Amino acid sequence: MAKMRAVPIAAPGAALEIVERDIPDPPTGSVRIKVQACGICHSDSMTKEGLMPGMQYPRVPGHEVVGIIDALGAGVAGWNEGERVGVGWHGGSCGYCDNCRRGDFFACQTVTRITGVTYDGGYEEYMVAWASALARVPGELSATDAAPLMCAGVTTFNALRNSGARSGDLVAVLGIGGLGHLGVQFAAKMGFRTVAIARGTDKEALAHQLGAWRYIDSRACDPAGELAKLGGAKVILATATTGNAMTAALGGLGVNGTMMVIGAEGSVNAPAALLLTAKRGVKGWYSGTSIDSQDTLAFSVLTGVRSMNEVFPLDRVREAYERMLSGSVRFRAVLTMGE
Ligand SMILES: [Zn+2]
Ligand SMILES: [Zn+2]
Repeated sequence: MAKMRAVPIAAPGAALEIVERDIPDPPTGSVRIKVQACGICHSDSMTKEGLMPGMQYPRVPGHEVVGIIDALGAGVAGWNEGERVGVGWHGGSCGYCDNCRRGDFFACQTVTRITGVTYDGGYEEYMVAWASALARVPGELSATDAAPLMCAGVTTFNALRNSGARSGDLVAVLGIGGLGHLGVQFAAKMGFRTVAIARGTDKEALAHQLGAWRYIDSRACDPAGELAKLGGAKVILATATTGNAMTAALGGLGVNGTMMVIGAEGSVNAPAALLLTAKRGVKGWYSGTSIDSQDTLAFSVLTGVRSMNEVFPLDRVREAYERMLSGSVRFRAVLTMGE
């Protein structure tokens, strides 16, 4: 049997180790992808550290996958060998449960498929993915350009386009990291008066380069007060990973303003009076399904939005993961499988 390199996590907390494995065959309803690139996302730590309930090991992480379909399982319609596809966090849906039939495919009840969590993800040379998880990747994007858009990209793009903000509205992006540097670009290209909020002055020039209209240094001033001076935000896209940062910005929402929470850690402390006096709200947003990813890729081609990446060959997976985890990577780490 032909072999490949893969990075299965042996047990919660185990090290990232490259091993040789058999190249898998795709079962009914799935395809095999020859992986070209896979982004490293902070949520990969859920797999590495066993932070999701009911996880089974060994498990290969990775949910920002781009590659070429090289084999089709039985019963797969609409996809062909040789097509370039991407797979994100949403690993597929059944199509028949109540949530699926209401169109909430992301909340599929029968098969909770999460790429790199409930089945093996993209830290490997060949990956099997469910056909319902596939997005088409346009030829204008390189594999390393497209990979981070499969999670960081769709999460920010989809949250913004579903936030209720309209062209010309004041939209703040809280945190200029892996998610935020994409959020600022998308917000600016969507025609929002885009305000970037980060700690310190280091990222000010970059924020403007990415399209921000204003920059708020949350270390030097009160972000809520500054947003209020600008008229109050229609939307705050909270990419920050601390609850304190989100809580500090909340008062910057204007009338009918919404904080869209996509940073997956911490808790927002929302005083009742603050919410009800101006009909402010706090809402979480799930990244999106495969068609949302495909829309993200198409919008990125159209507008020139790109992730800023540090690219590593699979051999350097440990170093790449460490750089992501320590927050020192600028701004996304991407693995390539190498030819
Ligand atoms: Zn992710
Ligand atoms: Zn379902």
